[in-house]
Amino acid sequence: MLVVMEAAASAEQIDAVVRHIERLGLKALPILGAYRTAVCVTGQQATKDPANVENFPGVKEVILVTQPYKLVSREAKPDDSVIRVGGVDIGGNGVVVVGGPCAVESLDQTRTIAERIKRAGGQLFRGGAYKPRTSPYSFQGLGEPGLEILARVREEFDLPVITEAIDQESLHLVDRYADCIQIGARNMQNFALLKAAGRARKPVLLKRGMSATLEELLLSAEYIMSEGNYNVVLCERGVRTFADHTRNTLDLSVVPAIKRMSHLPILVDPSHGTGKRTKVLPMSRAAIAVGADGVLIEVHHKPEEALSDGPQAILPETFEQLVREVDAIAQVLGRTLQPALAAR
Ligand code: PEP
Ligand code: MN
Repeated sequence: MLVVMEAAASAEQIDAVVRHIERLGLKALPILGAYRTAVCVTGQQATKDPANVENFPGVKEVILVTQPYKLVSREAKPDDSVIRVGGVDIGGNGVVVVGGPCAVESLDQTRTIAERIKRAGGQLFRGGAYKPRTSPYSFQGLGEPGLEILARVREEFDLPVITEAIDQESLHLVDRYADCIQIGARNMQNFALLKAAGRARKPVLLKRGMSATLEELLLSAEYIMSEGNYNVVLCERGVRTFADHTRNTLDLSVVPAIKRMSHLPILVDPSHGTGKRTKVLPMSRAAIAVGADGVLIEVHHKPEEALSDGPQAILPETFEQLVREVDAIAQVLGRTLQPALAAR
């Protein structure tokens, strides 16, 4: 349920609504919009009808939200959310380019790539210290030493870092070291992990599961938000289909669908979405053209030696071209590249 307040409603009136809802044993979250505040009501069904609140002073209307997701919905918040990751905004009018290797392999490798990401104009760095691999014999990531490398690279290059957490233990560490917690495709419906991410301090980048519907993705975001963490960025990374010319099928039509249903920003990951280096640049152009808030790109200076996902990693020179082209396409749509943090 949504309690939409009058534009001129006072803080006391909003507070009275919140207190009333909470007395009924429900959760009430005031969402400040550009023009009005809406109080989003969630929780198990109360015995007394919370809709009586429509007679409270300052209340414009009460809307019964029909979808199972509430906090993520556009009904709850009509204007786009902008999520700040280590000083860089994701969402709104700006477009971001996130780059980095699939896995942090060494300090040298990570520094070399980060330097090129920064020089090319990428605003955020991403690399995995914990890798959820299909085979138990594949490189599993450096773990905490990998997080230490990411923290060093952030300081050296003024690049906020995003890295994946695969369980509750790594989540606590990622929350401490990184600027944003990635929840990967394989964990999109790990509800215990989603709830723990909802109690973390850092924003969450939530990747779509490889066979998840749009509604399932939004409900996973709702899990995080329902625990109190409202800083969620969605990510389309391709789904499984019968097509075998690519690793996955990048479902770009999900971007305008999400924009209609949710206020959360969405990034597109054409690296996992295609699995093929030659397809990353064209699909990045397309992602920006359909309205994504940015792209997430795997980059490696020696892809043939990469410990994971080498075949889909682009070279730093291609990344430079990608940033230029993303910028040009964004401008056609009246958007701009989000500014990167100034180097100190
Ligand atoms: C990754 O981002 O490196 C990764 C493992 O992605 P996904 O969870 O989308 O497969
Ligand atoms: Mn990868």
